[in-house]
Amino acid sequence: MKTLGLIGGMSWESSAHYYRLINQGVRAARGPTASAKCLLWSFDFSEIEALQRAGDWDQLETLMIEAAQRLAGAGAEALMICTNTMHLMADAVEAAAGLPLLHIADPTGAAVRAAGFDRVALLGTAFTMEQDFYSGRLAARHGLSVLVPEADDRAIVHRIIYDELVAGVVREESRADYRGVIARLVDSGAQAVILGCTEIMLLVDQSDSAVPLFDTTALHAAAAVDLALS
Ligand code: GLU
Repeated sequence: MKTLGLIGGMSWESSAHYYRLINQGVRAARGPTASAKCLLWSFDFSEIEALQRAGDWDQLETLMIEAAQRLAGAGAEALMICTNTMHLMADAVEAAAGLPLLHIADPTGAAVRAAGFDRVALLGTAFTMEQDFYSGRLAARHGLSVLVPEADDRAIVHRIIYDELVAGVVREESRADYRGVIARLVDSGAQAVILGCTEIMLLVDQSDSAVPLFDTTALHAAAAVDLALS
């Protein structure tokens, strides 16, 4: 079994799910006492979030590279970044660490295609929804056409992630807001919706959507199990 290096803590709410899902996957494949060989670098998300707000992506990239190099030095054989947003610097992290990096958009795009969809909506932080690093990869590598919410809806989705979900706060009013955003995306032609932030699954599930939801946390964790056991 390969040793996985997880760069997490962004937020720890989702990293805890990653740890459980990866271990459950290894147990299902290898038997009741089997568990994943893994290392976790867990950031203090308050420091990450402050740098994101300040737009200091150079410093964030430096921190991410340091984390990846520490994991490589500690024996990780493959890396994963346990957040969609921080895949903004995935290529730099992979190159600096000298280890293969399991990009979160790839198992996600593959699952959407395997389900027969090609027009998909993307929910996530403003960074993920508004820049090209994520939807561009879904388009270029997986042939998907990607819709994002209108500006007001993007602001709602982003605010709820940072003000509530990373802090472990789940509010019924926010679930209703997400339902509304999803319904408007379906009206605009989305055949499916990617939960492109690793905490959104704390708030919404399939019952909140008329079209299939693709949870990046679960898909990334499942792909990590396959990689570790390959
Ligand atoms: N976990 C979130 C994501 O998947 C947001 C937190 C972050 O900015 O890393 O994008």
